Parts: sequence; structure tokens; C-alpha cells
Amino acid sequence: MEPQRRRRRRRQLPPLVLLALLVAAVLAVFWRATASAVEMDLMGEAEVTLEYGSEYQDPGASALFRESLLLPGNQPVPVRMEGELNTDRVGDYTLRYVAEVTYRELFWQRTEVREITRVVHVVDTQAPKIVLNTQEGQYTLPGHEYEEEGFTAFDDHDGDLTDKVVRQVLEDTVIYTVTDASGNMAQATRPIYYYDPEVPTLELLGNRTMTVMQGEAFDDPGCVAMDNCDGDISDRVTVTGNLDIQTPGAYTLTYTVSDTWGNSAAITRIVIVREPDSPINKGKIIYLTFDDGPGKHTSRLLEILEKYDVKATFFVMDTGYLHLLPDIAAGGHTIAMHTDTHQFAEVYSSDDAFFRDLYAIQNKIYEQTGRKPMLLRFPGGSSNTISQHYSPGIMTRLTQKVTQMGYRYFDWNVDSNDAGGASTADEVFRNVVRGVAGKDYAVVLQHDVKGFSVDAVERIIQWGLSNGYTFAALEQDSPECEHPIYN
Ligand SMILES: [Zn+2]
Repeated sequence: MEPQRRRRRRRQLPPLVLLALLVAAVLAVFWRATASAVEMDLMGEAEVTLEYGSEYQDPGASALFRESLLLPGNQPVPVRMEGELNTDRVGDYTLRYVAEVTYRELFWQRTEVREITRVVHVVDTQAPKIVLNTQEGQYTLPGHEYEEEGFTAFDDHDGDLTDKVVRQVLEDTVIYTVTDASGNMAQATRPIYYYDPEVPTLELLGNRTMTVMQGEAFDDPGCVAMDNCDGDISDRVTVTGNLDIQTPGAYTLTYTVSDTWGNSAAITRIVIVREPDSPINKGKIIYLTFDDGPGKHTSRLLEILEKYDVKATFFVMDTGYLHLLPDIAAGGHTIAMHTDTHQFAEVYSSDDAFFRDLYAIQNKIYEQTGRKPMLLRFPGGSSNTISQHYSPGIMTRLTQKVTQMGYRYFDWNVDSNDAGGASTADEVFRNVVRGVAGKDYAVVLQHDVKGFSVDAVERIIQWGLSNGYTFAALEQDSPECEHPIYN
């Protein structure tokens, strides 16, 4: 029963209802067609891209309340903007423009809200900046790793990016790369400055002066070459010098080496070719002694002695060149006393005067070298007779006193005569060679204040070494060399 009734009612709506529905439909269409409405217009683009930090002027949006049949007349409607925009921070910002109007329509109060949006992309397109520090005078040793001089990276937006820098060390350059949060990349390149200021060091194996018998083969012990970059480069050493083992004499061998950078160093060795050993000279000693200095030729003399590794003895006085005493001491030579003033009238006027003068030079030597000398040579030698004019018997007294006090005094048994008749290096050389011959030990008197006498020294040394002599400096226990006393 029930479903039948329902069907019937649907099939046959009452005419009144149909009319009502029709009227409602017409009214609805009419109302819709005449209804008021808010229309919005976005000024500018709906999507804006903006570099961060730049000024942004929002063009805004407009809203209009559109007239209808019932509410005639267009009315502008205030628009409010919602949403935050920080132009200093990268990001996508949505700005919302909202227009809201409340009005009365027929019997109803209506509120209409319209909204449109704009998207602002705040972007960072600026690359960071890399600053490379440079240290004055910095260089990299060839074959060594580059030592970083420092760098900083800064991005105006992200701030300090130093920690994010990636270093790539290539052979000749270092590349620094950094990318900011927005993907902007910066790169800096630093050339690596290679430089090697250090020359290799050379050290002779064996003695600086070597002796070989005439006709025998010279077995060169060579030398060791070390370089700060290349390490041991002994195998790169080349030896030059025209050593002739058939001809007696002194020869200089020069050992030269270059490192990879091109720094070269050289060292020399003296090779003495000796005539077949004559037993007469074997074990014989030549004591070269130089009086009245130091002077302007002393430095040159020291170089010659150093070249042949020969030690000598210097009986010094205050010549105004006492600043050379440390050089003499550094060469391994003996510094001995020859009194301070060397003025006969002064030093031989009395025993006390002599010691005053002696102590004066002793103190000056001590000041320069830190050592108190105990060896001395009397001005004019212990055999001088000039002292007789000032104090009879003084040489007898002084030689005894100084010996009792623990000093050793030395005269000489070979006079180069450079303070007498000799005035050329040749004469000095001949006098010394003649004087040395036949002596078990020779204490040679020369004066290093005389240039021509210093000129003879190299020949004397070469001759001595190639003839089997040994050169030595006088010591406290050296053999006696004292003249007879005449006063
Ligand atoms: Zn003298």
C-alpha cells in the first residue's frame, strides 16, 4: 500500500506547488542576475621576483562593489593586505589582498569577502666573495706541499662562508670554490709560487788536504751533497781540476753540485802530489808564526791557511786590529802574546813595566776570545841586545820569571827575514825553504803585517805539504825553541 501512494503523489504534483517552484526559479535567476558583487583586480604581476635587500613597492590591488539592479552604483571597497614580506631574507612570500563588504539586500544583510594573492620570490643571485690572503715573501719549496696562506669567504646574504670553501690543490695553482645557500658559486685561483733559495750543502769525505805519492793513483773519497728539496744528491757531484799525479805539486779539486732548482754549490780539496817519500822529512813539523799583527793582511792569510787546513801561531800586539782575534781563534790557530805596545824603551824599562805591558795584551786577548794566552814571544826575541840600553840583565830575569810563572816563550829557528833584507814573496819563500831544510822542527818567523810575506805563505804550504812536512800551531807542550840570552 505505502509505495503505491508515494508513486502517485510524485507523478502528480499539485499545481500550486508547481507554480511556487516556477516563481522561485524565476526569482532566483533574477536575483542572481542582479545581485551585487565585489570585483577585485590585482595591480602588477601575480608573481614577482625580487633580489633580496632591494626596495619593494607593492602595487596593491583594487576592489569594487559592483552595482546591481537593487543596489545601483559602483562603490570602491577598501582592500587590506595580509601576509609578511621580508625583502632581506630569501624566500617565497604570499601576499593576500582581502576586500570585505557588508550590505543589505532586500531583507538580508550580506557580507561578501573576496581575496586574491600575489607571490613574491625574494631571491639571492649574488655570488659570495672569496678573499685570498698572501704572506709577504712566501714561497713553496719545489716538491713540497703548498702551505696555505689563508682565505675568507663572505656572502652578503649568508654571511661568513669560510668553512664551506673547498680547496683543490693542483700542481701550480690552488682553486677555492664556495657556493651559497642559493646555489651561487664563487671561485678564486691562487698561483703557487715555487722557489728554492737554498743551495745544496757539500761536505768532503776525507781530509781537506790530501797527499798522494807521485805516480800513485789518487783514490778520491768524494763528498756528500745534501739539498733541502732533493735530499741526498751526492751522485750528481762533478769533480773538476787537472790533478797530475806524475808531477809533484799542489792541486785543487773542485766538487760542484746543482739541485733541481738550479742552485749550485762548490767545495774544494787540495791534493798534494809528493815526491816519493823521503824519510828525512817524515814527521817533521813546520810551525808558521806571525808577529806584530793582526793587520790588514791577516784576513787574507786566514783564508789561505783555511784552504790548506794549516794551523799557525799569531804573536799579537795591540795594532788596532784586535777585532780579528775571534776570526783567528775560530780558525783553530794559536793566539799568543807579543806584548801590548812592542815599544822596547817601554817594555824593557823594568821587569814591572814588562809585565804591565804583557798583562795588558793578555787581558785584551781574553776580552776578544775568552781565553787567557800562556804563550809569548819577547819583542826582538829573547836574544835581543837592545834591552841592554834600558835595563841590563832584564832578558835573563824575564825569561826565568815567565817560565817560573808557567808561561812558555818561543823564539824562532827559521827567519824569513821579512823584517830584514827580504822585500818580496820570492825572497821570503826562498829564505823559509832554505831555513826549514834539515831541521826536525822549524819555527818560522814571519810578520802578517807585511803583505809580501803573506803572499809567500801559499807557496810555503804547498812546498811543505808536497815534501812531507806537517804544519802545526805552537802549543804549551811544543818542542823548545829558545835563543841564547845576551842580556
Ligand atoms: Zn815583533
